Amino acid sequence: MNIPFSSVGVMHREIESEMLDKFREVYENNWFIQGREVEKFEEEFATYCGAKYCVGCGNGLDALYLILRAYGIGKEDEVIVPSNTYIATALAVSYTGARPVFVEPRMESYNINPEEIEAKITERTRAIMAVHLYGQPAEMDAIMELAGKYSLKVIEDAAQAHGASYKGKRTGNLGDAAGFSFYPGKNLGALGDGGAVVTNDKELAELVRALGNYGSDYKYHHIYQGNNSRLDEVQAGLLRVKLKELDKWNARRMEIAGRYLNEIVNPGITLPVTSFDCTHVYHIFAVRCRQRDRLEEYLNQKGIGTNKHYPIPMHLQEAYAELQIPRGALPVAEEISGTQLSLPMYYGMTEEEVSYVIEALNTWKAEE
Ligand SMILES: *Cc1c(COP(=O)(O)O)cnc(C)c1O
Repeated sequence: MNIPFSSVGVMHREIESEMLDKFREVYENNWFIQGREVEKFEEEFATYCGAKYCVGCGNGLDALYLILRAYGIGKEDEVIVPSNTYIATALAVSYTGARPVFVEPRMESYNINPEEIEAKITERTRAIMAVHLYGQPAEMDAIMELAGKYSLKVIEDAAQAHGASYKGKRTGNLGDAAGFSFYPGKNLGALGDGGAVVTNDKELAELVRALGNYGSDYKYHHIYQGNNSRLDEVQAGLLRVKLKELDKWNARRMEIAGRYLNEIVNPGITLPVTSFDCTHVYHIFAVRCRQRDRLEEYLNQKGIGTNKHYPIPMHLQEAYAELQIPRGALPVAEEISGTQLSLPMYYGMTEEEVSYVIEALNTWKAEE
């Protein structure tokens, strides 16, 4: 059997005619930037998240960066970032001139450990990046409480968690503002790059919209030295078609995860823990294993695709050599990067395929 790590094949086949109709509609409309499709998508996605405003932008990294910039965060400032996340979370901070300060995650949930945040707060701290890693919302009550105590902004990095919820509220509606990515492989993905800022803060939404559009409030009138970061009409139109299916796609991911959690029984493999107070949309199903590289090779030989999220922690990346954080300084992130393995997870995976993956994992033996 050949099971890829991820695939959009079945998903895209099921909506093919609606997607092509939408493409034709935009094509014939002859209007490609800042038109009706992006306006509609922004309305629909804000409503989906349960929030008031959505502003489309070029990608997830820009969404996070534009929020930070709109909050006036920059040189001399510090922003709390989990030590285990995709590097975009930290780069968004660095782009503003501020410094990312890494805080360790919990080993069980992989999400930032709120108990470790307070010790890293200084006079310069301005915000906390609450990453909903792998599709599971961060521990928002504890994070919001700390943010209230120290007057910090809370920015959700929801790039992996479209549709996930915490105590009944969806991501995008859990902090001060949220950045989403519509990179093709995300739970809601465009057919190219795309992103959005979601917030209940009207002033922030307006500022982000201006900053992402050359700092302009109306045509040829510029109040800021802005960026060009916009969601285009084709992607927005296609995302509108896909948004209608997102809950169904996420439900299938949760079903697959449910089977993995119930049926993978192997003392050499540690399963992820989902908190009772949230729904996890399993962008990534992350297990841990002491002999991760051996396990990966074994699965790949059986035709099972895998991935690592992420093989090198950010503080050990050459790009962040300037922070001078030595190996050993963030042991939880280092342990995760050395032991984590992502299993196949996508809408369209059949029960037989799920069974095959489970069977392979259950028959794997760690070396003495
Ligand atoms: C994908 C991702 C981003 C960046 O999104 P892009 O659209 O690729 O710029 C940011 N944060 C996390 C956690 C991500 O997974």
